[in-house]
Amino acid sequence: MKRTQGGSPKRAEVLAFVGLGSNLGDRQNNIRTALDLVDSVSGLSVLGVSSFYECEPVGRSDQPDFINAVANVRTSLSPRSLLKALQGIEKRMGRAPSRRRWGPRLIDLDILLYGKELVLAPDLVIPHALMHVRRFVLAPLCELEPDVVHPVLGLRCRELLRRLRSGVSRESFSGQSVRVAVQ
Ligand code: AMP
Repeated sequence: MKRTQGGSPKRAEVLAFVGLGSNLGDRQNNIRTALDLVDSVSGLSVLGVSSFYECEPVGRSDQPDFINAVANVRTSLSPRSLLKALQGIEKRMGRAPSRRRWGPRLIDLDILLYGKELVLAPDLVIPHALMHVRRFVLAPLCELEPDVVHPVLGLRCRELLRRLRSGVSRESFSGQSVRVAVQ
């Protein structure tokens, strides 16, 4: 760990992946606005963004389809500070607090991977607990970085996606259709 001149500890920069999703309002615009806000946070910069994918909702089908994307970011924020920054952006964009799991949302920002770090806390799990069984995460992630390795499973993104397509891994509910890249 480095220290700045002022004495406060400075983290080394880490490459992380952030998942974005929206199924309310102008979905593409919501994703773009969120990306701009992510890039504007001190200690956080967006290096690349996948295409935008139109995806059937997972878990609950009684809601509009999502636009999903993945961004590759470079950050000097800790995992928890990154989570707080993403939650601040969700709030700032007007995401209403919802008790409904897998319900509709204006914007959803998730930390998928944070370098090779593992975090297992009540409010933060990295790698994201369901990323390996979600096509709407793996398809855009593979587009950006097919060889990125899931640090728990020890498998490359392309292999996780292949397993999901072939039915080797599956989520316990249906609704995994990722139809078109719309960007
Ligand atoms: P969601 O409804 O999908 O936005 O889930 C939000 C909740 O997931 C928050 O309470 C977060 O603390 C928690 N959470 C756990 N792991 C993660 C992660 N890797 N990225 C974002 N939120 C997470």
